[in-house]
Amino acid sequence: MSDSVIEIAGVSKSFGGVAANRDISLTVERGKITGLIGPNGSGKTTLFNSIVGYHPIDAGSIRFEGCEISKLTVQQIARRGLLRTFQQTRIYGRMNCIDNMLISVPHRKMGLLDMFARHSRPELEKAEQLLAFVGLYEKRFLRAGSLSFGQQKLLEFAMALMNEPAALLLDEPTAGINPTLINGLIDRLKRANSEFGITLVIVEHNMRVIMNMADKIYCLAHGQLLAAGTPETIRSDQRVIDAYLGAH
Ligand code: ADP
Ligand code: MG
Repeated sequence: MSDSVIEIAGVSKSFGGVAANRDISLTVERGKITGLIGPNGSGKTTLFNSIVGYHPIDAGSIRFEGCEISKLTVQQIARRGLLRTFQQTRIYGRMNCIDNMLISVPHRKMGLLDMFARHSRPELEKAEQLLAFVGLYEKRFLRAGSLSFGQQKLLEFAMALMNEPAALLLDEPTAGINPTLINGLIDRLKRANSEFGITLVIVEHNMRVIMNMADKIYCLAHGQLLAAGTPETIRSDQRVIDAYLGAH
């Protein structure tokens, strides 16, 4: 029996007359890297938003670690260890990297006492270690806004790791990043998966990146699941080529 962390069954979500997600069913296996691809507007970000509780779904079920989460809030879902990053970075440009790391922790389960102890030694050490992990240790006292876009993405990734997520959803992590930084980011994502055991779900337009990273890939088109399979299967699937890959 496979060990799924996220189980999505029959999920639909419309905005007014637009059916952004239609009857989508898919599973994310524990400890694996799952890719989500598809043309612009095919519903990838909407599905991410539904999974992390950003908006209510119209129909279907979303389970995380066996529990129904589709009625929970973003905070409740985050505390269970399911987090996402955004297409647009969400860092505080005027604060330095360390402080961005430290304020990113409220997603994790903590009581009032922990709030006061947020800047405690262990937390600070973890922030420094994770900044070193993404290659930003030397820049830890610089304003986050002074970093390059790619470095800001790395910081955002490190901020998500501060919460020690069980699963992390990444929406176009390499978008807009200088090609020289992309390999470094891919390497960090793979290591977060293999060394920290974090289950990853990645929306990615760069086919070289996603084919190289993912254990399994799902392809959406027009809000529906078009195909699922290994990178090899997906690469040669005629429906995927017609709907998406042909344009790449
Ligand atoms: P993708 O991430 O694959 O590019 P999205 O999930 O962002 O696709 O969008 C899927 C469809 O849903 C698009 O037609 C988009 O315009 C629509 N959509 C997404 N979010 C909203 C929203 N908040 N309000 C209205 N329409 C939306
Ligand atoms: Mg999107």
